[in-house]
Amino acid sequence: MNHFTYRNGQLHAEGVPLAQLAAEVGTPFYCYSSATLERHFKVLAEAVAGLDATICFAIKANGNLAVIKTLANLGAGADVVSEGELRRALAAGVPPERIVFSGVGKTRAELTFALDAGVLEINVESEPELELLNSLAIARGKRAVIGLRVNPDVDAHTHAKITTGRKEDKFGIEWTRAPQVLRKAAAMPGIDVASIAVHIGSQLTELKPFSDAFRRLRDLFLMVKADGIALRRIDLGGGLGIPYDDQPPPSPADYGKMIRENLGDLGCALLLEPGRMLVGNAGVLVSRVIYVKEGATRRFLICDAGMNDLIRPAMYDAYHAILPITEPAAGVAYKPMDVVGPICESSDTFARQRPLPPLAQDDLIAFSTAGAYGATMSSTYNGRLLIPEVLVKGDSFAVVRPRPTYDDMLATEKLPAWL
Ligand SMILES: *Cc1c(COP(=O)(O)O)cnc(C)c1O
Repeated sequence: MNHFTYRNGQLHAEGVPLAQLAAEVGTPFYCYSSATLERHFKVLAEAVAGLDATICFAIKANGNLAVIKTLANLGAGADVVSEGELRRALAAGVPPERIVFSGVGKTRAELTFALDAGVLEINVESEPELELLNSLAIARGKRAVIGLRVNPDVDAHTHAKITTGRKEDKFGIEWTRAPQVLRKAAAMPGIDVASIAVHIGSQLTELKPFSDAFRRLRDLFLMVKADGIALRRIDLGGGLGIPYDDQPPPSPADYGKMIRENLGDLGCALLLEPGRMLVGNAGVLVSRVIYVKEGATRRFLICDAGMNDLIRPAMYDAYHAILPITEPAAGVAYKPMDVVGPICESSDTFARQRPLPPLAQDDLIAFSTAGAYGATMSSTYNGRLLIPEVLVKGDSFAVVRPRPTYDDMLATEKLPAWL
């Protein structure tokens, strides 16, 4: 469900025609819908209503301050994986006591910053990290509140690049070793062990891997409780998939039900860390056709967005629906086209042999479901500027990240004295 629909033959974001935005900000650009963000948050909040659950938005899916603030205003906390993301969350007004700091390679400087900020918990992923955090906390006369990220050794059945919970993945502490590490942590003077955490992957399209992982957390929670370690929380990570094509993933309601069934009776607080499911459908990438090129065997639609703007198709073989901004006339013939960007890489291909209605030079198209892992994964490869982000609310819009200028780009570098 989203708020990008055709009205009077023109694709709109809520009440704003995307063609109008293209005229005002230029292409390519990302456009986000406040109503969709709000709807997704509310659907998830309702799915876990009655549980003592906090929804911490995983900022790496979309770090725009206006997006974070829209969700924070509804009560969302944040899951962050770097000092930069932590600073983003704080700048957007997320209270530190709603921020979880995750990540397999937090540096000394990042841990210190998080300790001083007073985040809800730092999710520790290795024993060396635990020891470093203990010593940093002692040196500052504090106790670091931690969660222990456990690797439950379950296969999330998602793309290999975004599966994180098998024992050969770099994340978390092996679940068989976790009780030992929890005991060690509980005895450390600089550590307050509050929770155990998992995050088994992203874009999961079945509930079974989640429930397998959550059962392991449940067993662990009860086992260490019997040992006298009373955990206050369980962190369930993110990962719920969203529909990119016609295949519907499990509904938030079913996800909530599964959580209730597996963990609802433990009497502890729960943390959820959704990223994609809150923001994915809330964004589109709007691009203009530069050329239509007739190749020897294919027709190429060359557009002004590239893999540096949206890397998911190149990196994860991801599918994004492509919508013409002007609604195609009924009964018009769809023909296969390869939709590509201007980057000097063959992987700069958004879609191969995609059936599309007739499109011509200067026409506008939108890549749908581009709100998650779109702008946050973008780069300036090929000397291209980062593209603007626009947030729509009803009939209003705001440019929430302007397009930099070429002078801005050049100003970030310096020549050494000998040149
Ligand atoms: C990436 C990540 C998330 C969010 O994943 P989604 O698939 O976007 O929901 C949550 N928690 C952690 C620790 C992550 O690394």
